[in-house]
Amino acid sequence: MAHLSDIEIAQAKKLQHIKKIAEKLGVAEDNLEMYGKYKAKLPLDLIDEKKADENNLVLVTALTPTPAGEGKTTVSIGLTEGLNKIGKQATVVLREPSLGPVFGIKGGAAGGGHSQVVPMEDINLHFTGDFNAVEKANNLLSALIDNNIQSKVNNLNIDPRTILWKRVIDMNDRSLRNITIGLGGTANGVPREDGFNITPASEVMAILCMATDFDNLKERLGNIFIGFTYDKKPIFAKDLKAENAMAILLKDAIKPNLVQTLEENPAIIHGGPFANIAQGTNTIIATKMGLSLSDYVVTEAGFGADLGAEKFLNIKSAFAKLNPKCVVLVATIRALRHHGGAAKEEYNTPSVERVEEGFKNLEKHIENIRKYNIEPVVAINSFISDSDDEVNFVIEKCKSLGVHAVLSEGWAKGGDGTQELAKAVVDVVENKATQYKPLYDWKSPITEKIETIAKEVYGAVNVEYSKKAQLNLRRIDRLGFNDFAVCMAKTQKSFSDNDKLIGRPEGFTVTVREIEIAAGAQFVIPILGKMMRMPGLPSVPASEGMTIDNNGVISGLS
Ligand code: ADP
Ligand code: MG
Repeated sequence: MAHLSDIEIAQAKKLQHIKKIAEKLGVAEDNLEMYGKYKAKLPLDLIDEKKADENNLVLVTALTPTPAGEGKTTVSIGLTEGLNKIGKQATVVLREPSLGPVFGIKGGAAGGGHSQVVPMEDINLHFTGDFNAVEKANNLLSALIDNNIQSKVNNLNIDPRTILWKRVIDMNDRSLRNITIGLGGTANGVPREDGFNITPASEVMAILCMATDFDNLKERLGNIFIGFTYDKKPIFAKDLKAENAMAILLKDAIKPNLVQTLEENPAIIHGGPFANIAQGTNTIIATKMGLSLSDYVVTEAGFGADLGAEKFLNIKSAFAKLNPKCVVLVATIRALRHHGGAAKEEYNTPSVERVEEGFKNLEKHIENIRKYNIEPVVAINSFISDSDDEVNFVIEKCKSLGVHAVLSEGWAKGGDGTQELAKAVVDVVENKATQYKPLYDWKSPITEKIETIAKEVYGAVNVEYSKKAQLNLRRIDRLGFNDFAVCMAKTQKSFSDNDKLIGRPEGFTVTVREIEIAAGAQFVIPILGKMMRMPGLPSVPASEGMTIDNNGVISGLS
């Protein structure tokens, strides 16, 4: 059989009407807000806190990834198919893809092979418009800020040089990182420096994902910290009376989107913050919606477990009082070879020695998950280039640590390839799950929270703060934000803040260069190393390989 691309597999699928998928969740057609035949929004009153508390939450995360991604989304969808096959009612709850990666390097985020969510093109492109709404809400606040600086009435005396709030667009466009606005004379605004972030890096996205309902959304939007007045008073979005209008723009975006997997199981896709600079997980509302409507929810947190899972467990679950019962750690033989020292050209060359050396990375992630009182299951995302010896080595090595490792063949076979993984997960949920515990208390000092993460999760021996970070800490203290969570911004390529340190680095120090404030999201963002809030396109962007024919059929989207 010729190898089909993701989009070819997705397009070959005859989709079920979305009302049939909703039926599986016990949701009547009348409750759906249809976006055509295959997408619908779910009203917030379907959330049932009691059920959400009782049902089973499974988090999918990964070892430290290579740039290609190790298949968390693919495994999350595959596992959901497998759970349904063994008779468990399961829903996959994912993030919405950003257009930046779609047209840049990584491609879409709707799974791969025979583990995908569909309609794949819609999900990867504008979907139901949530990203656009986030962008508009964000940019409304920008417009209100500049209008206030221009205006003689109600002028808040904002010092334009202190404004931290930026405009956003969902595109990789490095030319917009630093811009000058307000040129053209007195009628056209007050000139100042500004810039664009990519939409998934915006605080409005972070807020949408942390909000529990409309009131909470408005409160958070009002709490956005913008900058200072000339006499050094802090300015918040509520000072501009922005929060109600911003919330209005998010009136539909706050509702989770229902679609289907290739095997016609429910998929809820909602919100999309990046994991290196934001919290990297879908909305609290979507997770609770999934848990209200099904026995099992499988969800994903971005990048490696040191980033996505750490934030999922210490920020999202702690705030929303979720109790994840099992963590699936996705590992690939390719990434283990990489951590064992294989060069990029050798990623597909079998080597038990490299896998053995690279296992140290996975072992640290296993140890970390156990610190939260959660038992991990390792899913070896099966690639054609894997050798049996390498796979067996990983299974045996995990066994010696008391961890169940299972080959996951969802990419090649869908739910037929993930039943063993599904059984391993059910075993943990039914027999080994207790109450998870976060690693820190939000009430402890900011530096203590940062140190807990750096030492316990990353394995650092020390944390250093730049002059700027020290000033930022004082500002956080002055503004009374000490009991916020900590949303670390770090490279995904290493446990440390240095891309080059693969495997399980030891004896290293991490440096906090600055600390941003996301007061509406209720976290501070310590920045370790250079973090990009507006990525650029590569010299040959993925967009060049795409087309749409005269019948409207898209190809080349991956
Ligand atoms: P992540 O969520 O960890 O970033 P994805 O699930 O999005 O990773 O997968 C990244 C890419 O790798 C996708 O294009 C997907 O089709 C591909 N992929 C995932 N698993 C496999 C596999 N087992 N074999 C081949 N390709 C895979
Ligand atoms: Mg993913």
